[in-house]
Amino acid sequence: MNIILLGAPFSGKGTLARKIVEDFSLVQISTGDLFRENIKNGTEVGLLAKTYMDKGELVPDSVTISMLKQRIEKDDCKNGFILDGFPRTVPQAEELKNLTEIDCVIQLDVSFDEIRRRCLGRRTCSKCGEIYNTSTYNKTTCEKCGSPLTKRDDDNLETVNNRLEVYENMTAPLINFYADKLFVVKGADSPDETYKPVKKLLSEKF
Ligand code: ADP
Ligand code: ZN
Repeated sequence: MNIILLGAPFSGKGTLARKIVEDFSLVQISTGDLFRENIKNGTEVGLLAKTYMDKGELVPDSVTISMLKQRIEKDDCKNGFILDGFPRTVPQAEELKNLTEIDCVIQLDVSFDEIRRRCLGRRTCSKCGEIYNTSTYNKTTCEKCGSPLTKRDDDNLETVNNRLEVYENMTAPLINFYADKLFVVKGADSPDETYKPVKKLLSEKF
């Protein structure tokens, strides 16, 4: 089964994807994480992506699509995957159609007020990738593995406003694009509350 998670920045896509992975045999593919990995490794794709990510803009479709294509061709994707952060534009969605079948699109619906509240508090574990928010977790080390928590370079107010605008203009049209396989989840509650209807849906489908 192949799933897409759709939602604005800070809607909780990454957190939800990690919960799904724990219960179902699917791999999580985050294009944001793939870009950050490329940046860390100093690759050509990373150097290019950084210039866009630092401004809160989208990395050009051609680069993003070819990176995604290489990833989903790997063996571990054969049993199915969760796309977290892809597609983000209609051309990306059109291209994905040619690459593989998508069974279900889960849209995380969170108000912009809630997103602004969440945005500056996000912290990520430098080792295992667990996601926290300072509003609900005030330690500086990871509960799961004890490693230090870090703040992402692009989680600052200037960039966030741009990322939200880009979401409205470029990504929100995908809600219509996937109307026939869309499952909407209100994402404003706790991660566990958000996951409940998703787990029910996927349990029925699997
Ligand atoms: P968030 O959803 O919180 O904004 P991501 O980690 O998904 O965070 O993305 C971070 C940045 O990586 C985006 O702002 C964008 O610059 C780039 N990016 C990630 N996925 C895509 C994509 N599918 N197309 C274009 N750019 C992308
Ligand atoms: Zn950790």
